[in-house]
Amino acid sequence: MSAEPPILGRAAPWRGILEEYRDRLPISEATPVVTLGEGGTPLVRSASLSAATGAEVWLKYDGANPTGSFKDRGMTLAISKAVEEGAKAVVCASTGNTSASAAAYAARAGLACAVLVPKGKVALGKMAQTLVHGARVLEVEGNFDASLELARDLAGRFPVTLVNSVNPFRLEGQKTCAFEIVDALGGPPDVHCVPVGNAGNIASHWLGYAEYLRDGVIHEPPRLFGFQAAGAAPLVRGEPVAEPRTIATAIRIGNPASWSKAVEAATASEGGIRAVTDREILHAYRRLAREGLFCEPASAASVAGCLQLAAEGVLGPKQTVVCVLTGHGLKDPEWAIAGAAQPASVPADADAVAAELGL
Ligand SMILES: *Cc1c(COP(=O)(O)O)cnc(C)c1O
Repeated sequence: MSAEPPILGRAAPWRGILEEYRDRLPISEATPVVTLGEGGTPLVRSASLSAATGAEVWLKYDGANPTGSFKDRGMTLAISKAVEEGAKAVVCASTGNTSASAAAYAARAGLACAVLVPKGKVALGKMAQTLVHGARVLEVEGNFDASLELARDLAGRFPVTLVNSVNPFRLEGQKTCAFEIVDALGGPPDVHCVPVGNAGNIASHWLGYAEYLRDGVIHEPPRLFGFQAAGAAPLVRGEPVAEPRTIATAIRIGNPASWSKAVEAATASEGGIRAVTDREILHAYRRLAREGLFCEPASAASVAGCLQLAAEGVLGPKQTVVCVLTGHGLKDPEWAIAGAAQPASVPADADAVAAELGL
C-alpha cells in the first residue's frame, strides 16, 4: 500500500468558477474577478429515479448557487467582463432568475442594474432578490420575449451592457456546469437532461462538453436532451409561440434567443429537444421534493424529461444520466404550498401532539 499524503486540514474552499476553471475561460490577469463563490454545486445520485428508470440517475443541483440558480455561473463572468470593459451599468430582461443574479453581481461590483420583467409574471422570491440588491425594476407590459427585445434595443443605443444570455460571456461561464459533471463523475454521462427556455443553458453545456472532447478530456460526449414546457415549446413545434403558457415561469419563453445553438447541441450530440406537460413537470417536482431536493417547477422539466425518455425506451440499462436542476424551490414557493396539506393546529401538550401524530 502506498503512503497517503498527510492530512493538513480541511479541503480547500471552492473559489468560484472563474478561479477554478480560469484556464478555460476568456479572462486574464487584467480581469477583476467578481464572484460570490458560484459553481461547485452538489451532484447527487437519485436512488429512486435510478430504480424507476433502470439507469444511473444523477441530479446536478444548480439551485445551490449563491442566488439560487445556474444564472450565477454566467453572471460572474458577464459582470467581471463588464467591469473590465469600464461599464457603469448593466441591463437585462428576465423571467426572474437572470434579474436576481444580475442584481446581486452588479451590487457586488458596484454597478447600476436595470431589469425589465414581464408585468405580474415574476415569482415572489425572484422579485424579492432583485429588489433587495437594489436593482431598478421596470415591469414591461408584455411577455419575456418583448422584454428581451426592449433590453437589446436599449443596450444597442445607450451605454449599458446587456447581461442576458445573448452576451457570449454568459454561455462561457455556464459551460462550467458540464466541466463539473465530468470532473465529478470521472467521465461523461451517457445522457444529459436540461430544461430549455431561452435556450442559452443547453447551448452552454454543449460548449463545455465539446471543449472537453476537443481537448481529449473525454472521448465521447453525452446525448443532450432539452425539455420545454408543452405550452411554451417553440423548438419542438419549429416556430415561435406568440403566447407561451406554462406554470414553469423560468421557461415561459416563446422565441428563444439561442434557438439555433440549442438545435445544434441536440443534433450534434444525437439528443433532441422535447416537450413535457405541466402535469409531468409538477409530478417530477413533487417526486424530487420527496427525496429531499427542492427545485423550482421549471427545473423539474429535466426529470420529467428523463422519465419520458425511460418510458419510451431511449435510455439504455445502466446508462448514466444527469438531470440538471436549474433553480431553487424557495424562489417560487407557491407550488409547494398549493399541493400540501394544511398544518394541523395542536395545543402545547405532548400527549395531544403524540395523539395527532399517531404515536
Ligand atoms: C433561466 C432558467 C431556465 C432556462 O434556461 P435557458 O438558458 O433560458 O434555456 C431554466 N430553469 C431555471 C430555473 C432558470 O432560471
